[in-house]
Amino acid sequence: MSVTAEKKFAVEISYNGITKSLRVEPEESVMAVLQGAIREFGMTQNPHLLSFFRQDGSGVPETGSVEAAGLRPCELLLLRPNAVKGGGSLLRLSAEIVSKTFLALRTCGRGECECAVYWTGPATSEFVDGIVHPLHSRSLFGYEINNQWLTRLWKDLATTQRSIKAQIHSHPSEAFHSRTDDQWPIVSQAGFLSIVIPEFAMGEPTLMDAWIGQMQSDGSWLQLHSYQDAVILS
Ligand SMILES: [Zn+2]
Repeated sequence: MSVTAEKKFAVEISYNGITKSLRVEPEESVMAVLQGAIREFGMTQNPHLLSFFRQDGSGVPETGSVEAAGLRPCELLLLRPNAVKGGGSLLRLSAEIVSKTFLALRTCGRGECECAVYWTGPATSEFVDGIVHPLHSRSLFGYEINNQWLTRLWKDLATTQRSIKAQIHSHPSEAFHSRTDDQWPIVSQAGFLSIVIPEFAMGEPTLMDAWIGQMQSDGSWLQLHSYQDAVILS
């Protein structure tokens, strides 16, 4: 009697608070699985900026097969940006979120360094009800998010089913999106918002003077005319 073993199995893949099941084959290349996952999540970001990470923060090698990488049935993989650097719909938030954002950017930046925070909320809603201040390096010229911290955040988002709704960072003087800001957002799905606050956020806590961009489906950024095109404040 012969038994045909079912070789395909499912792994769990998590991106920005949503976890999806993907069927893989042992001899399939990890790169093919990665490309499938990127399609599945409808991402616009250049695939070379994204990789699979295990829960301990180690990267899954992309050069070999699923079998060679040691992937197991039901294993949870974090689909995560390799690095975050920087300098859709209307989000709903309270004015308190804006003032807390300014306070965080100011306290960390002290009028001399760039800082970034993320607005978070339940993954399937447009509500922002939290602010996350990342562990990051900082200088007058930019910031870079800590790699281990990013892994922890991605796991937390998956566990709590929350998403990053917008990234907000400060600039020394003028608010605009630099080339680095364009290329290294923390989330790269159409509709994602990036907000840049001028003068190290030392001014009035308002979005009136901010640069606000929204990621388009081709991965480019569209500058919005005013914050009212991006958020509803209550
Ligand atoms: Zn900071």
